[in-house]
Amino acid sequence: PEGYGTEGSLTLGDIFIAVKTTKRFHQSRMELLLDTWISRAREQTYVFTDEEDDALKRRMGDHAIFTSCSAEHSHLALSCKMAAEFDAFLASGRSWFCHLDDDNYLNPRALLKLLSSYSATWDIYLGKPSLNRPIWASEKSVHFWFATGGAGFCISRKLASKMVPWASGRNFLSTSELIRLPDDCTVGYIIECKVGGQLLPNPLFHSHLENLQLIPASRLTQQVTLSYGIFENKLNVIELSGPFSPQEDPSSRFRSLHCHLYPDTSWCLQAVGW
Ligand code: UDP
Ligand code: MN
Repeated sequence: PEGYGTEGSLTLGDIFIAVKTTKRFHQSRMELLLDTWISRAREQTYVFTDEEDDALKRRMGDHAIFTSCSAEHSHLALSCKMAAEFDAFLASGRSWFCHLDDDNYLNPRALLKLLSSYSATWDIYLGKPSLNRPIWASEKSVHFWFATGGAGFCISRKLASKMVPWASGRNFLSTSELIRLPDDCTVGYIIECKVGGQLLPNPLFHSHLENLQLIPASRLTQQVTLSYGIFENKLNVIELSGPFSPQEDPSSRFRSLHCHLYPDTSWCLQAVGW
């Protein structure tokens, strides 16, 4: 059939990319993303945060969404943002919803390639399973798989539309309160226990809760998401030799990664001395 998500015809414009952040990371994390991968997906990326910020507004315009969610790491504050992301996606009319944390690098090219092999008219939930077994929701005596929010995940419009009774408006918060689990678990619960969908585990999504050094540099171009952060009390970051030195591009290596994937970027050409 004609319409969204027909194989081969998918474009970035069909994807709604939501990045969750908080005031205290606007400078330290968001600037880096804006300089790197968001510059390649500006039209489809929306940032969900908790406090007005002129600097962020200047860079993102109406793609910076200031929710009234509180700036806390509590389940409810985070679920409040997920609900805002989901509602904005529903209103956007786009075919795919992808959620990311602000410590994720998303490769738009790899994402497009991955989603092109599915149709948004199917029930699709793609991501990295958070655990090696399903989680048990004791409040409800059910178990289910969920994609860890820290590795990013994507949901087709068809599936998202079936989630509406549990995920839209205030419903997401109620569902999240009911099972007393975080936002990404709540998404998995709604999909697997309410809608009857299933997580499709995909090895191209990565969080900092896995050893990122194990990804060979030659494989970085294929990965859909990467991350950086603390893992087992150590800084966990991808292994990439350049073009930036570890001093110029510390902790995330995202500037070097971006130049590796998109070498025609102006500041990448300077970095390699063109
Ligand atoms: N976050 C948030 N509010 C907070 C703390 C964190 O919205 O009070 C967001 C943060 O911007 C990031 C995600 O939640 O997108 C995960 O946070 P972080 O990476 O700091 O923690 P992790 O869960 O990975 O240890
Ligand atoms: Mn993190």
